[in-house]
Amino acid sequence: MRILMILLLATAAPALAEPTLLKPARVFDGEVMQTGWQVLVDGDRIVAAGAGVAAPAGAKIVELPGATLLPGLIEGHTHLFLHPYNETKWDDQVLHEPLALRTARATVSARKTLMAGFTTARDLGTEGAGYADVGLKAAIDQGIVPGPRLIVVTRAIVATGAYGPKGFEPGIAIPQGAEEASGEGVAAAARRQIAAGADAVKLYADYHWGPGEPSRPTFSQAELTSAIAAAHDAGRRVAVHASTPVGMRRAIVAGADTIEHGSEGDAAVFKLMRERGNVLCPTLAAGDAIARYRGWNGAEPAPPGVKDDREAFRLARAAGVAICMGGDVGVFSHGDNAREMELLVANGMSPVEVLRAATTVNARAFGLDDRGRIAPGLLADLVVVSGDPGRDIAAVRQVTMVMKGGIVQ
Ligand SMILES: [Zn+2]
Repeated sequence: MRILMILLLATAAPALAEPTLLKPARVFDGEVMQTGWQVLVDGDRIVAAGAGVAAPAGAKIVELPGATLLPGLIEGHTHLFLHPYNETKWDDQVLHEPLALRTARATVSARKTLMAGFTTARDLGTEGAGYADVGLKAAIDQGIVPGPRLIVVTRAIVATGAYGPKGFEPGIAIPQGAEEASGEGVAAAARRQIAAGADAVKLYADYHWGPGEPSRPTFSQAELTSAIAAAHDAGRRVAVHASTPVGMRRAIVAGADTIEHGSEGDAAVFKLMRERGNVLCPTLAAGDAIARYRGWNGAEPAPPGVKDDREAFRLARAAGVAICMGGDVGVFSHGDNAREMELLVANGMSPVEVLRAATTVNARAFGLDDRGRIAPGLLADLVVVSGDPGRDIAAVRQVTMVMKGGIVQ
């Protein structure tokens, strides 16, 4: 059995056998669109990139006429254990779908994400599926199922009583979509999750206490500060869900690495974000999808939720806040990750700025210094698309090749 396994491993990695020279029409290097470049891959790394890179003896040459080569894209905000709410409501996914069903579906969602060109994804909470993301990540890393390199947070951490599902007999314990904690227990929850395999920590700084209520701050400043400090001490970055100016401000002051949504952010809070260097994941695609599930056909004027997202995004950009590319996938279909990229362009970013967000900006925000650019020594995580996404961002949907660690998927 052991001998057979070794043979299989040897034959399953053809990319290790010979260097490969990729010759596309253009290369997005993580910062700008280059023409006349070639990229040489050997083993799991990029070994050379630029104009006039020669193929070493025995190298395989891959001609990619008309195509654009990019660093493997990085999805900044996904939930592989959720599927679109117009298929099954969030409450029903959390309460009625068995863990094995959710995990089986997550493996399919992981493959769809990878084949859409996203070789890395930050999964921001299993939403009631416990620690199954840690196992899914291991299955991907061991080559059992295909998928992106994952950054997982296990269960998001919410203030006691603040999250859902809600609406049952008061006092009865109902399974929740995240881990509840208060006081010193918030930092303890972060530490337990890190011990169980969390690569990063997700906290909710605000939420709506009941249906129809606006979002209100949940964790106190002290709770956020101690939990984020505990995560940072452990070398983990922290994503904080925050929509309200008060929740955002507390998260920013506490040292959150990324703020998720920020949909009610005002000029003052975005100015503070710019000063402190926190990155915003505006998740425009989630609000857009939810509005459509409620009957919006995309015509103007947009419903209030969509308008709020757009206005906050405009203010964040005006303040010079760094923008993460992350759509809150799972609210809408896995594999349709480009939807966020298209909405970022529709709301004012240039296609090249959006390509930077999905590569260099996300890599930096998540502490991934081995990817996000095309440069010697970095991981050979690459995607080839037909056309020029630097001119028309929709070209990122025309994926013709995905390479992860030097291996064509
Ligand atoms: Zn989310």
